[in-house]
Amino acid sequence: MHELSLAGGVLKVVEDAAAREGFARVRRLTLEAGALAGVEVRALRFALQALQPGTCLEGAEITIDEPPAPAWCHGCCATVEVRSRLDDCPRCGSARLLPTGGTELRVRELIVHDD
Ligand SMILES: [Zn+2]
Repeated sequence: MHELSLAGGVLKVVEDAAAREGFARVRRLTLEAGALAGVEVRALRFALQALQPGTCLEGAEITIDEPPAPAWCHGCCATVEVRSRLDDCPRCGSARLLPTGGTELRVRELIVHDD
């Protein structure tokens, strides 16, 4: 499952940060899955929950945001926001959109326990 390897990647990022910054436990983790990243958020959440026990993410509150993706519209010559590659321009209805972002899964916020 795609999301399981993504979850493993997220855990690796967090564990690397834990080793670098010397914290043992995460209180809150916020991820950002771009609207065009192809991430099934529910599956990712499930995979992360399965990985949490015994890691620095144990007991952490995990939030996964799905911000809309920026795209350049050739119709109105402006940057607009879309939710999927199939979306038309929300301003002019044109289908001639060029996504310029929103394809990444990244860690946006990592809050750790002080102790
Ligand atoms: Zn447009």
